[in-house]
Amino acid sequence: MQNKKSALPRSTLVKEFMSSPVISVDINADLFEIINTLNQHTISCVLVVENNYPIGMITERSVVRCLAKHLPGSLDEIRAHTMMSAPIISIHENESLFDATILCRSQKIRHLPVLNEHQALAGIITYSDLVEANHLQFERRAALLGKAAESDSTESLNKHLLEMTLTDPLMEIGNRRAMSIDLEQTQQLAERYKRPFSIVLIDIDFFKLFNDHYGHLAGDKCLIEFANLLKQSIRNVDRLYRYGGEEILLLLPETESAKAIHLAKRIINSIHKKCYKHEKSNYNYLTASAGVSGYEPKQNSDAVHWQKLIEQADIALYQAKDQGRNCAKLFNNQKH
Ligand code: GH3
Ligand code: MG
Ligand code: MG
Repeated sequence: MQNKKSALPRSTLVKEFMSSPVISVDINADLFEIINTLNQHTISCVLVVENNYPIGMITERSVVRCLAKHLPGSLDEIRAHTMMSAPIISIHENESLFDATILCRSQKIRHLPVLNEHQALAGIITYSDLVEANHLQFERRAALLGKAAESDSTESLNKHLLEMTLTDPLMEIGNRRAMSIDLEQTQQLAERYKRPFSIVLIDIDFFKLFNDHYGHLAGDKCLIEFANLLKQSIRNVDRLYRYGGEEILLLLPETESAKAIHLAKRIINSIHKKCYKHEKSNYNYLTASAGVSGYEPKQNSDAVHWQKLIEQADIALYQAKDQGRNCAKLFNNQKH
């Protein structure tokens, strides 16, 4: 029998869809040149490039912001480097369009410079390009799945459909696939710009007993409320993923572990304070435990990979469980 998975189109790469060459300006370009460039090429964004590497971005919005700041004064001194947003987020040309979309969505950006294997600027892709490309790809996949449905099993079809999603249907937070895409990207940015980030693993205490006592449906409802509480406790840039059954991974970009442990403690406290009844728990109420680990570029010359960070957070989580649960622990490098 033919393998249906191979019948699906392979994912389209960024390089197949990017616009190239890229319209760019020099770091010392003045405002007149920048506005002229945007106008002549009818584009909404221009890249600032040094040695063929994108170091900043100027959008129409940056121009308006700059004019509002300087007018009615003189505009003579304004240069590209004084008005560009930096550092900028970029993507490699061999990444998939799908990953580029996730990146734009999670980082809330509309223009994504594309780098080639030499880390030089190769093209640019906009969010509307991505929406269009993904829509086309989705339609093609849907047509193929329709054909496959005539001869394939429901189980295999469901598997394909599941692979196309990034959200956990119960908790309505990211799933494991979304988590690895975002962590990979966060790690790359952190390494390139020497920025910190942290992760928190949060696990409900005695949840098996909760299910056994109140039933699986009540357990599901509890998981939804747990996720909702976490959604309310975090910043806009932070991300939640369902790591396992009743275990959630919280990704905190731009956050050192010393700050992350404070947030984790606050979250654990707020879960307990919610007074969600759990008669079979030592605490009488639903509680959770957390383990925290962080990527700190100044201390680590060798970059710790995010998979290692998850292992470290898991060790800290086990310490929290060991010390009575209902608490958060920071991974301590000295001990391991
Ligand atoms: P600990 O305090 O050590 O974390 O103990 P625990 O009972 O929470 O941990 P354990 O790993 O023994 O059990 C986890 C339970 O979570 C068992 C499983 O049935 C339940 N669970 C996992 N996913 C779901 C789900 O989607 N819905 C419901 N209702 N329960 C789930
Ligand atoms: Mg548990
Ligand atoms: Mg667990």
